Amino acid sequence: MSEPVVPSNFITDAIRRDNEAGTYGGRVQTRFPPEPNGYLHIGHAKAVVVDFGTAQDFGGSCMLRLDDTNPETEEEEYVDSIIEDIRWLGYEPADVRHASDYFDQLHDWAVLLIEKGLAYVDDQDGETISATRGSFGVPGTNSPFRDRSVAENLDLFARMRSGEFPDGARVLRAKIDMAHENMQLRDPVMYRIRNAHHHRTGDRWCIYPTYDWAHGQSDAFEGVTHSICTLEFESHRPLYDWFLAQLDLETAPPRQYEFARLELTHTVTSKRRLKKLVADGVVDGWDDPRMPTIRGLRRRGYPAAALRAFCREVGTTRTNSRKAIEELESYVRRELNATAQRRMAVLRPLRVVLDGWPTNADGTPVVEWFDVVNNPEDEADGTRRVPFTGELWIEQDDFREVPPPKYFRLSPGREVRLRGAYLVTAQEVVKDAAGDIVEVRCSYDPESRGGTPTDGRKVKSTMHWVSAPHALDATVALYDRLFTAEAPGERTGEALDDLNPNSRELLTNAKVEPSLEHARPGQVVQFERLGYFAVDDEVPMTFHRTVGLKDEWASIQKRS
Ligand code: ATP
Ligand code: MG
Repeated sequence: MSEPVVPSNFITDAIRRDNEAGTYGGRVQTRFPPEPNGYLHIGHAKAVVVDFGTAQDFGGSCMLRLDDTNPETEEEEYVDSIIEDIRWLGYEPADVRHASDYFDQLHDWAVLLIEKGLAYVDDQDGETISATRGSFGVPGTNSPFRDRSVAENLDLFARMRSGEFPDGARVLRAKIDMAHENMQLRDPVMYRIRNAHHHRTGDRWCIYPTYDWAHGQSDAFEGVTHSICTLEFESHRPLYDWFLAQLDLETAPPRQYEFARLELTHTVTSKRRLKKLVADGVVDGWDDPRMPTIRGLRRRGYPAAALRAFCREVGTTRTNSRKAIEELESYVRRELNATAQRRMAVLRPLRVVLDGWPTNADGTPVVEWFDVVNNPEDEADGTRRVPFTGELWIEQDDFREVPPPKYFRLSPGREVRLRGAYLVTAQEVVKDAAGDIVEVRCSYDPESRGGTPTDGRKVKSTMHWVSAPHALDATVALYDRLFTAEAPGERTGEALDDLNPNSRELLTNAKVEPSLEHARPGQVVQFERLGYFAVDDEVPMTFHRTVGLKDEWASIQKRS
């Protein structure tokens, strides 16, 4: 799938302007700053593509910065998975940093702000601080500790740092304006006391910087030029700029740009909710193919190229909206149509026996081998050999003893084509004691080898099949939406109320053509007429349906 050269949006426009003005000497540096408290999901993929992709487009660089400023919630387990998922998406961080790498520098810059009279230690507790912040249109009130001397602030901050006080006893606040119309600038907290062990800095610190203090300053330490984040940080931007303006930087400060979060219909993209799905056993784990995590999508067979193309082409905008999951699926289908090899598989098998199929001199049935094109979209992908015999599996759905109107597949007396092989006509139905059909006996036309009759007569249906003596047993998982509602949680406030109880159907009796013995873990193939299926990473002969073949996005667009 081709990726457009450089998309035009408000971020790339800003970069072009900076490059023309020489703001950063032509440098473009971005960062992707996840909190290592869960696995990356499709929303993060959008941020990864914007952060890494934009830098790449301009020949710049993008680092991964793990925002590990909350000592209690972060785990190293997630760090490795985040790096792995970014690589799988097709990007390589220029470097991997942690916000905690900068704890010393952040501390020193905080001291600088205190020395400038721009920060103070507040002895009020958290509740009082929130209660005195005022509200929209209502100014806050100054803390009684706001006018402490620089010397006293320096002393108290040093004692906060040395561990003299319990959690919550004091905070360091920026001294800006308690009546500012933007609440973020009403003396925001820069440091809190947390006597907690940090997964990287251990017990070295008992004060931890807030997001607002850590973020922009870390951007500046690293030399970030364009700091891209999501819209909920828009109101933080004046604070981001304020902090940087106080620091007498020698080079142009980074600037923050916000874009709309990616939300998808029938999907939740909140780590907290995804965590709950795993914890409650609703899904099998973070990499369950129904999960919108990068791991889940990958296991489901979503190609990284399709995710990249979707994230780029749905655009980087400043308007929050929910994209249709069918649109994402259409990118997946388009990519797989171009790249996936075709195979034949029968999900719910019905036995077909061809009367008069020839036998060899030794009495064994003849086996014919057909050369079948692997991918009609890609000649270079070659052919494979598929065996055909007089004993076959077809889909139960492809036979009706009493065909409904407009049913043109196999039924008594009707002739159909077995794809690439022969024309057959159903003659007789064999039932078990319970009256269930267990076998259909057919005649076949030996002259129609390859699927083309010599007299040019037409048949209305072409069906896939698998030679029964050669078939391999397989398990196939079919997936439906994990949430029935387009906007999970909109109705009751709780997304889990909209769970689809039938989001997975396991078919344990599937029959697949023998070449699938060599399928690679993770490989995605098209089962003809059925959809795209990913080979499980671990369990052989287990396939996950990635997407069906029908382009639902096209019909949605036609309707609207
Ligand atoms: P969650 O709400 O799932 O916990 P988060 O925003 O807390 O997500 P972070 O780990 O802090 O997750 O996010 C890392 C980066 O990914 C941030 O820049 C964030 O803005 C971005 N991001 C997270 N979710 C989305 C989304 N749905 N669409 C676009 N970007 C996202
Ligand atoms: Mg977060």
